[in-house]
Amino acid sequence: MVIDHISLYFHIPFCTKKCDYCHFYVLPDKPVFHQLLMEGLLLDIDVWGPHLTNKKLVSIYFGGGTPALLGASPLAQILEKVRSYTTFQADQIEITLEANPETISAALMREYAQAGVNRVSIGIQSLDDRLLHKLGRTHHATTAIKAIEDTTTAGISNISIDLMYDIPGQTLDAWHHTLQRACELPITHLSLYNLTIEPHTVFFKYRETLRKELPDDECSTRMYQDAIATFEACGLEQYEISAFARHDLYSRHNVGYWTGRPFLGFGPSAFSYWQKKRFRAVANLNRYVQALRSGQSPVDFEEELPPLQQQRELLAIALRLKQGISLSTFEGQYGNLDMETLATLRSLQEKGLIQWNQDHIALTPQGMLFYDTAAVEII
Ligand code: SF4
Repeated sequence: MVIDHISLYFHIPFCTKKCDYCHFYVLPDKPVFHQLLMEGLLLDIDVWGPHLTNKKLVSIYFGGGTPALLGASPLAQILEKVRSYTTFQADQIEITLEANPETISAALMREYAQAGVNRVSIGIQSLDDRLLHKLGRTHHATTAIKAIEDTTTAGISNISIDLMYDIPGQTLDAWHHTLQRACELPITHLSLYNLTIEPHTVFFKYRETLRKELPDDECSTRMYQDAIATFEACGLEQYEISAFARHDLYSRHNVGYWTGRPFLGFGPSAFSYWQKKRFRAVANLNRYVQALRSGQSPVDFEEELPPLQQQRELLAIALRLKQGISLSTFEGQYGNLDMETLATLRSLQEKGLIQWNQDHIALTPQGMLFYDTAAVEII
């Protein structure tokens, strides 16, 4: 019998302050919200628990928000609840906790390690105090470096950081400085993001002014390319468009997103992908808990793509991985590709965005840069 591999995601929406560019569902860090969230999460696990038996759990991810604000004991309670439906050894699966530098101390990380967390993802964003201030972050570069030291001291060595480019006012020199410093950190993983100005953010309000300060397209391309070169030179291997790892310590959880592994999301605004359906819980803590209390579904968005569209989406997403795709394996899993999709792949090859060797396709370096164009054409 083939046992399905699955992942779980828990959305912990609390932050001490909302960053000026943030468009996530975030709430102030108040005890009353903590209690409400825990009630909702535990009820939600009870709803999905029976579906977890006979599945192989690969990863659990606590994202947010700032999940490190939740506390180790509530996190352990969540893991215990999951364990009541499916057996797993905390040291056999990846359990990631997102944290912001200012929330980290060695003592707190030790508690999380005891609760089962074996990977920490720290939202560093930049190692330049001027830019951190610009982003509305509350930490400094020194806080970020200390957070990594504290996490290591607590016995968690699998540490990922987020870095951001395309920040208003960011120069190529400043970016190079951050890249060099990042290379000296004892991290195993790094995720790279370019800042986008989204509606319903402080940045959106000031977008006209901020856009004048954004690095231009040429500079932005250099930032991405220089990041890849710098990381590769210091042993952080690029394995996905925006993800880098040492010693093959890829994010097992995120690899699931790129390879179509089913996952369940718990908490307000959390997405799930389950039995080929994509759905999201309502982005409102009160309504999320109320729905669960009254035995209703907290889902307020659901879609099931037609099979052809679904297959094309999975193809486009899997292409994000640098290793590319074996077409025969892909077709074995998701059915044969139709003539139109194959013609699109040929045209992307002619444009130099993908390389195609017999059964294998992968993005070229140019394709990595213009992934969005390639993905739109495939989908
Ligand atoms: S820490 Fe992350 S989730 Fe919280 S406000 Fe800032 S960007 Fe948003």
